[in-house]
This record gives sequence, C-alpha cells and structure tokens, in this order.
Amino acid sequence: MSTPFPTGTILGYPRIGRRRELKKAVEAFWAGKISAEELEAAAAELRAVTRERLATLGLGRADSSIPEAFSYYDQVLDAAVTVGAVPTRFSRLVKEDGSLDLAGYFTIARGEGQDVPAEMTKWFDSNYHYLVPEIGPETNFSLASDRLIREVAEATTSGFRTRPVIVGPVTFLLLSKASESAPEGYQPLDRLDDLLPVYAELLAALTAVGAEWVQLDEPALVSESIEVDRATVLAATEKAYALLGAVPARPQIFVAAPYGSLDDALPVLLASPVEAIGVDLVKGSLDGISTSSIGDTVIVGGVIDGHNIWRGDLAAAFDKLEAAGATSVSSSTSLFHTPHDVDDEPLLDPRLKSWLAFADQKVDQIATLAVGLRNGRAAIQDELDAATDALTDRHNAPGVRDGAVRRRAASLTEADFSRGDYAERLAAQDEALNLPFLPTTTIGSFPQTGDIRKARALHAKGELSEREYNDYLKAEIKRVVDLQEEIGIDVIVHGEPERNDMVQYFAEHLDGFAVTQNGWVQSYGSRCTRPSLLWGDVAREAPITVEWSTYTQSLTEKPVKGMLTGPVTILAWSFVRDDQPLADTANQVALALRDEIADLEAAGIGIIQVDEPALRELLPLKKKDQPSYLDWSVGSFRLATAGVEKKTQIHTHLCYSEFGVVIDAIDRLDADVTSIEAARSKMEVVPDIQSSGFGRGIGPGVYDIHSPRVPSVEEVTGLIEIALGSIPERQIWVNPDCGLKTRGYTETVESLTNVVEATLAVRARH
Ligand code: GLN
Ligand code: ZN
Repeated sequence: MSTPFPTGTILGYPRIGRRRELKKAVEAFWAGKISAEELEAAAAELRAVTRERLATLGLGRADSSIPEAFSYYDQVLDAAVTVGAVPTRFSRLVKEDGSLDLAGYFTIARGEGQDVPAEMTKWFDSNYHYLVPEIGPETNFSLASDRLIREVAEATTSGFRTRPVIVGPVTFLLLSKASESAPEGYQPLDRLDDLLPVYAELLAALTAVGAEWVQLDEPALVSESIEVDRATVLAATEKAYALLGAVPARPQIFVAAPYGSLDDALPVLLASPVEAIGVDLVKGSLDGISTSSIGDTVIVGGVIDGHNIWRGDLAAAFDKLEAAGATSVSSSTSLFHTPHDVDDEPLLDPRLKSWLAFADQKVDQIATLAVGLRNGRAAIQDELDAATDALTDRHNAPGVRDGAVRRRAASLTEADFSRGDYAERLAAQDEALNLPFLPTTTIGSFPQTGDIRKARALHAKGELSEREYNDYLKAEIKRVVDLQEEIGIDVIVHGEPERNDMVQYFAEHLDGFAVTQNGWVQSYGSRCTRPSLLWGDVAREAPITVEWSTYTQSLTEKPVKGMLTGPVTILAWSFVRDDQPLADTANQVALALRDEIADLEAAGIGIIQVDEPALRELLPLKKKDQPSYLDWSVGSFRLATAGVEKKTQIHTHLCYSEFGVVIDAIDRLDADVTSIEAARSKMEVVPDIQSSGFGRGIGPGVYDIHSPRVPSVEEVTGLIEIALGSIPERQIWVNPDCGLKTRGYTETVESLTNVVEATLAVRARH
C-alpha cells in the first residue's frame, strides 16, 4: 500500500537559521575558524531544530510532509554536485569516488585564484541567485553525492519520515548553460538521456533509506523566459517522467512547479506516472483544466503565498483549494523567500504584526487549511474568520490609505511623466555642466569600511550621538571628495557612507515602510538581505538626501551627482503590499522621489542619478504579462524624474549587461545618461546599444568591481576604444560597472586612477 500524499506541506523552509546560524558557521569555516566536522555538526543541528520546529507548527513527523531541503550554499549547485556536473576547471577537487569534500564544494561556489566561480543568476522572479551549472560534452553524469540520502537517513534515525527535495532534471538542464568547451549551439537539454539514469539511481537510493515521497522542483516549466522552444521542453518533461516513473522501488514522485501556471505542461504531467503535482495557485491558476482530466493524480494546491509576508485572506485560499479539487495544501513556493518568524520582531508595531505571516506563521496557516481539507470548512471557521478580521483591520488602519497621497496620484496627467525634447535638454545640460569629452564618474558608493559600519552600529545603539555620527559621515564624505578630486574624476559622488543598504535607507525615511530586526532572507550563498515591509501609503515627510548632497557640493567646484534608488528597485527589494496593484504602489514611491529630486535641484544639484538595478529582475516570467509590467515600471521612473528642468541631468544605473532584453524599456526611461555593467562581459553589450540606435548618454562599465583585481590602463583604454568604435563619441561616459561599496580602498584607488589615466590617453588621441 502506498502512503498518501500529506494533506498539508510546504515546498521548502528558510535554510539559513533564525539567527543566521548557517551563515555564521559557513563563514567561520571559510575563515578557517572551525573545521569541516564542526560545520557539519552545526548544519545537522540546524536541520534537527528545523524538523522539530515544523512538527511543532503542525506538519506530521512521519507522513512525508516535512521537506528535507537543506543546502550549504545553493540548491542548484547541490543538484549539479549530486549528478557529478563539476566544471572541468574544478575537476582537481573531485575525489576518486567522484565526490567532493565541503571545501571543494565551496570552492566551486566561490572560485579560487584564476578559476572563476560559476556564474550567478536570478532564480525566477525572485531576488535569490543560483549558480548556473555548466554542461558540455565532457560532463560525465554520475551519482556523485550522497548528501541528500544521508540527510533522509539522519531524519529517519531521529524519528522523522521526511520528503527529500531536489531540483528536477528538466529544470536542472534548462537552467544550465553550455560549458566553454561545448560546440556552438550546444544545448544542455540534449543531455537529458544521460542525466536521467542518475536521477533514477538517486530515487532508488532514497527509497532504500525510507523516503516514501520525493519532491522534484520543476519551476522552469512555468517560465517562458527559457530559451529552449516550448515543444522541446514539453517533450523532455514527458520523457523524463515516463522514465523516472518506471524506476522500480522508487518513492512516489511529487513534481512542484512554483512561480506561475504550468499551462500546457500540466496535461503532460497529468498523463505521466507522477503521483502528485504542486501547482502555484497564487501566481498561477488551473484555468482551462477540467477536473475530470486530473484523474487520480494528487493536486497539491499552493494557495499560501511563499513569496510575501502577509497573513492574507485564508478563507479565499480555502475557496481556491475547493475550486481546484485539491486534496492537499502547500505554500505556492518554498518559504525560503520569507523570514522565519514574526514573533522574532519585538519592535514591530503589534497591529502591523497581526497582519503578517512569515515562514512559521505560514506553516501554521497551512496546518489549519489541512484540517479544513480533512474535516470540512466548519472545523476551521474560527481561524478563517480571524484572518478575515485581521484583513479588515488592516484595510481600515491609519496609514494604509492616506487621502492626500491618493488624491495626488489620482490627479496625475500625461505631462507629469514627460520631460520633453532630448535635444533641447542636451543643449541646456552641455551649457550648464560644461563637461569634458568622455566624462568620468562612479556609480555612487565608495568602500564601506569596517569603521563606517562600526560608527553606524554605535549610532544605532545610542553610543554615538546624532551629532557625532553626522560629523563622522561628513568627514568620510570629505575624504571621498578629496580622493576623487585628486584622481581627477569629473562628476563627483558623496560615496553613500550614510546608507546601510540602498533600499532600506529610503524605507527608513519614508512613511508606509517598516523595517525588521531579524527578517533575514537568503540572497545567495551566505549573503542575506533584510527586506523592508511596505505596508501603507508612501509619503516623504522631509528631505532625505539633500543635506548630504549639498554638503558634498560645498566641498568642490565640480558637479556633484545626487544619488537615489528608483521606485522599481525599492519595490523589488522590499516586501510589498498585496492589496493594490504594484503599479499604484510604484507611483506613490515615485512621487516621494519626485519631491526629493525637486529639493535636490532647488539646492543646486545639477546631476541626479536614480538607480534601477532591479528593472530587469521584476520582469514577469510570462510574455503576456511583460508589456504591462514595462509600462508601469518605466512610467514610475519617469514620474519620479520628469519634474526637473531641462538643464538638470538625470542618470540611471542598471547592474547587468543583458541590455538587449530590456533595451526598449531602458530607452523609454528617457534618462539623460545610463550606466550599465560591461567590463565583466568585455563590452559584449556594445553591439546591442549600437543596433538599438540608443541616442542618449551611455556609460558601459570599464572596471569590473566584482573582484579585487585592478584593471590596467591598457585594458581600460581598450574597452573605451571598443565603445568608441560603435557608439557616437558624444554619448559615451566612462565609469565602473557598479558601486564600489564591497571593494577595499587600495584596489579602488589604483583602479580609478587607471580609469582616469586611460580616459586622458583616449581623449588625447581623439
Ligand atoms: N548607487 C549604488 C551604489 O553605488 C548602486 C548600487 C547597485 O547598482 N546595486 O552602490
Ligand atoms: Zn549596479
């Protein structure tokens, strides 16, 4: 008799620990402060605590409802290591039996000497980044890691029956890229036949240690941003699950498809031997699927949003389960996008807290809905009503809807989004700014030294007075300005020493936001961010950056560039309200920024940069949703920036070089100058800029700030010449790829000096 799928489950849980225990242990291991055995013990302890916690919150100990989804660094790297897909440049780390030790695993993740780590890229429409596997003809798939198997066994020993989780084979290959040695046109998905036997072997091994269900994550099936054509993806899915379904003595298979609708992949999975399918009923739906086609496959309804922090409408979630004919309930995605526990936030307003659900509260909600599925709606009516009451309270609470903010947004006209003719702006700016040919600048931040962080911490603890902290920051700004003057940079920045984070800093100064103490979310590896909570209507009480920028301008004759974070990025890196369209929230943030920009301009700041590194990140996975996203996101940037005079120069900065994907949107931002990453990809983006006919200022980065390496004068000269070869020279700016905050001073000074020297050399030649 096969065990039924549990009535309530989650697709995954935060892995970093509620006090970031894993981060601390991993970083201590990297620093040589603890041994591999000590790190393993810390990780095992964290897994044990997590299982106990989930059982306490209402998931069953022995019914496969607790996911076994730990990772030391990244789940995609884990899958690669499990199937033996280690890039050739790291083969020296692989032991004779094909396995890696922990040090080897981290070396692949983080690089070593000349051996660069795997490329990192965004995991679907989230702010989590995974390591891109590299697959080529040389990749020799084999079951090379037994970590997942050992973890299931570890759970069994401590009295649990958990459900192992691994990235599914189709998604694994779709997220991979062809390795360097692969021939032109090589598709990792072509290796499916070689990969499947390894998954088959893994399934059998998991059965041997007691797993009754296995979860294979296949989010790539919901995405249209995958370069392989859809028919090929569907054929691969059909083949993969026919083969895995035929493995003798395997666990039952649960395919989870978070981040959107499966659409035409759902019938393929329904027709396969897969026993359960996890559908995302928050971002996606079962539209067009008749319940009769479902047959006896278990539909696991992902109705609790794994990607936000709201308690939400529990009654509506239960309705969705009933409408979908779901016999099980889960989170729509893994809960690793959310912090651990609202109860870890003693400083948050209790009323706001009553509207929130972090991971632990979401597990509790799922346990409630599972009771409803088993015993009927009446059994959970009280909990449904309580959630509805909280929602009503939230709707009516002061600050959630602010009349003045709403009236202002409602009265906007077309003209508020437009700055007028670029040629006229260009002439006015040339006259006002009088910049040299190939103007040099930086992206905003200078190294955030230990001293700066210490001063901020002391100030937060009240051990450094407001006055002392301000004096400290001003001295820091002066140092950074003097340095830029000495090096000979044309457009000066203040270096952003007052900012802990480019979003949180603004959240702390705007109405409608709250910040958490322990709300950490994994961004990649051991890196965590603490997104702000955007819960109410956004308004600016007082100027935020004006004092810093005017102080900076008082120190130099050269133009100072004011520095703000754009509306889309503020939204993307916060937890946003779910009770109104994102477009409306974006316009509120834009209006607050518009006021800040007006104040900067009035204070004599002639150049203002509005960073939008997340513009690409929020791009919806489904093509049909992209145009409306680009309309409102571009619109909010324009609303923020269109209030200035022609002579004021608006800059924007985007952190990536996939310029081609959103070139049209970047053009529509209508910024006077756009800086982008380009050095790391050796100016690969230049042909895209040229063919797009982009006509305004553009600063393709000439210095890769992601590593401590100092680029030589010749190298930078070469990069500038590449840009000059294709882009009209009056458009070109010279700048690094991104902000310098993670760099040290030594390499920063040397690199910027070389950048300026290279620029002078090129100027002299032209
Ligand atoms: N102005 C910011 C900085 O220099 C931009 C950071 C970013 O693009 N992520 O740090
Ligand atoms: Zn950047």
